[in-house]
This record gives sequence, C-alpha cells and structure tokens, in this order.
Amino acid sequence: MTDGPHRKFGRFSLEPRDVGRIETRHRRIATPLPVPESIPILEKILRHEPPSMACQPPVLWHRAVGSSVEDRFGNRWIDFSSCVLVANAGHAHPKVVARIRELLDRGHLAAYVFPHEERAALVEKLAGIAPPGLGSVFLLTTGSEAVECAIKLVRAWGLRSGRDIIVSFSGGFHGRTMGSQLAGGIPPLKAWLGGEDPRFVQVPFPDGYLQEDTSFGSFERALAESHVDASRVAGILSETYLGIGPDFFPDAYARALRAWCDRHGALLALDEVQSGFGRTGKLFAFEHHGIVPDLIVCGKGISSSLPLAAVLGRPEVFALHGPGSMTSTHSASPLPVAAALGSLEAIIEGGLVERAAALGPLLERGLARIAARWPARMGAVRSRGLVGGVRLVKPGTRDPDPDTAHPVVEAAFRKGLLLFAPVGLGGGCIKVAPPLSIEEEALNEGLDALEEAFEEVLG
Ligand code: PMP
Repeated sequence: MTDGPHRKFGRFSLEPRDVGRIETRHRRIATPLPVPESIPILEKILRHEPPSMACQPPVLWHRAVGSSVEDRFGNRWIDFSSCVLVANAGHAHPKVVARIRELLDRGHLAAYVFPHEERAALVEKLAGIAPPGLGSVFLLTTGSEAVECAIKLVRAWGLRSGRDIIVSFSGGFHGRTMGSQLAGGIPPLKAWLGGEDPRFVQVPFPDGYLQEDTSFGSFERALAESHVDASRVAGILSETYLGIGPDFFPDAYARALRAWCDRHGALLALDEVQSGFGRTGKLFAFEHHGIVPDLIVCGKGISSSLPLAAVLGRPEVFALHGPGSMTSTHSASPLPVAAALGSLEAIIEGGLVERAAALGPLLERGLARIAARWPARMGAVRSRGLVGGVRLVKPGTRDPDPDTAHPVVEAAFRKGLLLFAPVGLGGGCIKVAPPLSIEEEALNEGLDALEEAFEEVLG
C-alpha cells in the first residue's frame, strides 16, 4: 500500500526530505521530514486503520504543551490547529493536568452514572456560565454525540405538538454520526446515507460568499421552496459560526432567526462545539449577536483535552426524559470531567476569552496580508477572535482548490507550523486556530511561516 516511490500518508508525502534547519524560541526542525524513524510507525497506522484516518500531516505527536507540539526526534511545531480546536486553554495546561493528576493519584477513573463530586462541580459551573434559563446540563463524550442528543431533545419536544422537522444550514458540519450528518449540510459527507430524510431540511447559510443574499428573507424563501410549513418545524440547529469558513451570521439575521423560532414555537439549538469556550473572543459565539438559544451543544474546548461534550439548555426540554432514559456509559467520566474543570478555570479565570478577543486583530491582519499577495486565489478570508480561514479557489472561480490548500499545509509542516485543511466543501479551506494562550510572538511567527508556505506553493 505504501511501497514504491510515491508513498503517502493521506495526501502527504512519506518521502523524507531535507528541509533545512529551523531553530527559534517556538520552532525547531532538526531532521528531514517526515522523520525517517517515524515512517515505520506511520505505516502501522496505514496498515491497520481505514484510509480516512490518514488525513493530517505526518507528525508523530509525542508531547504538546501550550501552543507547541513536539515529536521525539527533536522537532517542534507551532500549533495553529489546537488539535482541531480542542486545546483552547493551550495543550497540557497546568490546571488541567493538576485536576487529572489528582484523580489519578486518588484512584477515581470511572463512575458510569453513579454520582461523584467533580460531576456536581462541573454541572454547577456549566449552568453558571450558561445564560439565565439554560440551567440543565447533560454531560457526554463527543461533539457528535452531543449533537445527536440535541436532535433527540428537539424532536421529542416538537413531537408533542406534531412538529417533526429540524431545519439546519447548508455547509454545516455537526459530526460524523447518522443524525448529525442528516443535519449536516455538506453533500459529499452525506453521500453514504443513501438519500435524504424529509424531516431534516437544509437552507442556505447567509455567508455572503456562496450565498450572497444575507437577508432573513432568504431563510423564509428557502423554507417555502422546500415546502416546509413553519408549523411543522420542531427546531433549528446551526453551528453558531459555520466551521468551514469560518462564516458568521450577520447580526440582524441571527436575531431574526431567534425571533422566527419564538414566533413559531420552534427551539433554537446552537452547536458551539467549535465556536465555544472563548474561541471567537466571547465565551459563546452567540453572544456576538445578542441572542440566547434554547440549547447549547458543547465539546472540544470545554476540556481543552480529554473527550467531553455537553448539552446545556432549558430544563423543561430535558424534563421530557425521565431517569434512565438519557444516559451514557461514559457520561461524566471522572478524568474528562476533571479536565473540563481545569479547562474552564484556565479559560475563564485565566482571561483567555479576552485574550482571544485582543489577539483577534493580529490574526485578521496576518491573513489579510497573505490574501493581498495572491488575490486571485483567495475566495474568502475570514476570522473572529482566534479562528480564521482562508478559502483557496481556482483562479477566476469560487471552486475550492484542495490541490493548492494541501501543498500549503504540507509546506507549513516542513517549516514548523501545524495546520489543517478540513475536507468539507471540497477541502480548499485552510483553517487557523491556535490555542487561545498562544504568545503574541508565536502567533506572529506562525503567520510569517504560513506566508512563506504560500510563497513556496504559489510563488
Ligand atoms: N459540531 C461541530 C461544529 C464540530 O466542529 C464538530 C467536530 N469538528 C462536531 C460537531 C463533532 O464533534 P466530534 O468530532 O467530537 O464528534
């Protein structure tokens, strides 16, 4: 499979190349890349895992602290991925590590749904940071699982009044499980479903790019075109920002969406798996729009590390499900719960939300500088707080250009910068999402390295 002169790890070459040494405070490249000694290990992954898992640059992660990732061969990268927007507090934040260590030392690793003190502390904390009225908290393991839970809550709520449709947005990503992909709006990712379910309807996201009409009228028109009567809508499910861009709702649209739900008795469930916990410079991204959803889906940055997700929301929506009807074996698993307590302390008490807001303009300027150099290749360049994206297009079109995006990511990897290009919508988007704790110097250095990677690929 990987023999021969063109061995690959996904789209990334497995041929070691001398890439030139780099030694700064934040980066160290001291070997050919990929590291020759790492290749037999990468090949084990290729041999035993499905090809879908070989989609990121061939760095053998060994240690990740703050905003840097190291292998065991002496190389060190600036991390602009945050592990796909997980490590908001920074990798291995001391507060996260201390909380986990305490439980390890005490011997408290699993609990099923038996009560434990950390679980009580975390649900109280999450209820405290949610907007008033959203005081119910259900802990789960992955973002997809939490999305599934939100779908179940919305459907069960709606069915009481004959409402069975969930409206979501084209371009939305809600996870890889069946329900989350039914709600998802990226057609290639849904092909395996073998057909649509008429109770999941997608309308265009007002991104001002693929969908030029950003007025709320476009929402109502799209529903009409899909023959959806408002009286059948149980709820709307949307990412607060569309991960693929990232694309943000215009404020007026977001407010109109909230008002539409109120007018028609539908729930508004916002997927903050990616946008929550400070990423955009607010604790939750919906705060930018001055709206409050009925359900908040959380994941990733909630723990900045171990798998934990949650749905927060209106108690009366959860109350339809009695004891034992909504549980999970690893719900409130002690170590992820402890990690989340540490992560929330680091993010909230540590001022990382404000820090993301303060560093946001720096990221925005860095991306704008890159975009200005290759304007014909840039479809849209967007950022807010510490999440940004560059959508590469084939010149003169809005067609995504993965054949440029991947080489840029690969060139960045060779320069000591880790990024990822999500596969959705054709894979032409390069996402920048460093830990919120990143030093300003490292952020600037990473942006310079990204510009060099573009230069290497685009000339
Ligand atoms: N929702 C959003 C907005 C996401 O970005 C993701 C993951 N990228 C998910 C849901 C799914 O989360 P998980 O991968 O933890 O299942």
